[in-house]
Amino acid sequence: MAEEELRMLYTEQIIDRYKNPRNFGELKGANAEAEDMNPICGDRIKMQLKIEEGRVFDVKYSGEGCSISQASADLLADFIKGKTIEELKTLQKDDVLKILGIEVTAVRLKCALLSLKAFKLATLNLYR
Ligand code: ZN
Repeated sequence: MAEEELRMLYTEQIIDRYKNPRNFGELKGANAEAEDMNPICGDRIKMQLKIEEGRVFDVKYSGEGCSISQASADLLADFIKGKTIEELKTLQKDDVLKILGIEVTAVRLKCALLSLKAFKLATLNLYR
C-alpha cells in the first residue's frame, strides 16, 4: 500500500474513533482510575480500569478534547484490554504512536500521550 494511502487510512481511523468511540463511558466496578489533563490543548482524559489477578479485565475512558487525544484513548483502551499489568509496564510513547499510526507534531504529542499518562497513573491508584 502506498504511504499516502496508509496515512489516509490512519487519519480515517482517528476520525472514526473520535466520532464513534468503542470504549467511552463510565466503567462499573472499576478498581483503578486516574484523570489527567493537557492544559495546552484543553484535553481531559479519565481512564477507569477493572484489574483482576494482575490483568486488565475491562477499561473505559471519559473526557473531552481534540480528536487526537480522544481517539488515542479509545485505541489505547482496546490495546490494553486483556493484557497483564506486567506486560503493560513497558508500554511507552513509541507504542502509543504506533497504535495511533500517524506522525504527530511536538504540540500534538501531549495530546496523543495523555491517555497513556492517565493509564500509568491509574495503575498506581489501584484500590481493592
Ligand atoms: Zn489535544
